[in-house]
Amino acid sequence: MAVTRTFSIIKPDATRRNLTGAVTAKLEEAGLRVVASRRIRMSQAQAEGFYGVHRERPFFADLCAFMVSGPVVVQVLEGENAVQRNRDVMGATNPANADAGTIRKELAESIEANSVHGSDSEENAATEIAYFFKPDEIVG
Ligand code: ADP
Ligand code: MG
Repeated sequence: MAVTRTFSIIKPDATRRNLTGAVTAKLEEAGLRVVASRRIRMSQAQAEGFYGVHRERPFFADLCAFMVSGPVVVQVLEGENAVQRNRDVMGATNPANADAGTIRKELAESIEANSVHGSDSEENAATEIAYFFKPDEIVG
């Protein structure tokens, strides 16, 4: 299996509860390596652009408001089959449906405040990484 990269965000509900380390530990235990990381306050424009695919969804405005409500940690993760590996350790979007041991089951507050973002395909991972990081900010 090839070593690949994916993009992750530790969301404001997790930074607010001081869970940056707890989330990162889960990622590392799952075999993912943090090869870039930056704590930022996302702008409204950044949030709307990042979640542009969801623009027509009823939760879009609330989601963007949530994402700018506090600091987030944007990360690039590296590992074998990184996109799927990260999705597996994240768990289902709604923590009520997430498997035991996943980040969302253990740590998330709600379907919106669900602690982490993770890319859903290799193609989106590349786009999302480039949205927040220059190549020389990623050190594998
Ligand atoms: P995922 O983050 O699991 O890939 P989606 O891409 O479908 O999920 O949705 C993006 C984000 O939008 C979710 O992580 C969550 O924060 C929010 N979201 C998704 N569905 C809902 C919903 N029904 N109500 C409120 N927020 C939602
Ligand atoms: Mg998604």
